[in-house]
Amino acid sequence: MTTILAQLTDALASGQITVVDLTQPLGPQTPVIGLPPIFAPSPGFSSEVISHYDEKGPAWYWSTIHLGEHTGTHFDAPVHWITGKDLPDNTLDTIPARRLIGPACVIDIHREAAADPDFLLMPEHILAWEAEYGRIPAGAWVLLRTDWSQRQTAEEFLNVGPDGPHTPGPHLSAVELLVSRDVLGFGVETVGTDAGRAGMFEPPFPCHTLMHGAGKYGLASLCNLDRLPPTGALVIAAPLKIVDGSGSPVRVLALTPG
Ligand code: MN
Repeated sequence: MTTILAQLTDALASGQITVVDLTQPLGPQTPVIGLPPIFAPSPGFSSEVISHYDEKGPAWYWSTIHLGEHTGTHFDAPVHWITGKDLPDNTLDTIPARRLIGPACVIDIHREAAADPDFLLMPEHILAWEAEYGRIPAGAWVLLRTDWSQRQTAEEFLNVGPDGPHTPGPHLSAVELLVSRDVLGFGVETVGTDAGRAGMFEPPFPCHTLMHGAGKYGLASLCNLDRLPPTGALVIAAPLKIVDGSGSPVRVLALTPG
């Protein structure tokens, strides 16, 4: 093991392994998912300076932060959804640390999503990916590349029309296939792991419903997925260890070859 870790250290130092940051900046401008007004909204990020090398703290700068757990690039724990509420190890403080690291399978639908913002990942897309790159291994993060993170404004990113949001995501049948592969979780570049239209699907929000019901995790608002190979990257996604936490902002790192 020492040898393997020494090799990893050397590979990082020499650039044979690159660290790709899959995380969006987190600040007051970070877009937050909108819900119908009958539901409670989740607040975006705000902060307040405690001291800034001043009379409140002459040598130190620090702030308080206030935000919903599911703000910006963030992690969804199984307890986030009612289907996962009674599972073991379903909160941020009980998820085993080993499960915060896994290989990445990157499925690229960025062209389809550019042509149709309501594009849905279907089982045939996953099976075609597997025909080319091999079966998705158990314990893998499946990451959906849409290039949605490259949209510059919150308006473009959330893409809300008069009838609600329009963003790509997985079809129920694709989620069923991913659960059958025993993935670690599903990650997306959009504001949530379900498609914008998914509130009207049957069942509503199939990715949240099935993934979390199966003890799987979610990653939302990722970026730089265009810098990852289809296979071969290792993702580290370690959320805050909030007691009974349903999710948290997370710094997601990918180790990639070359
Ligand atoms: Mn979430």
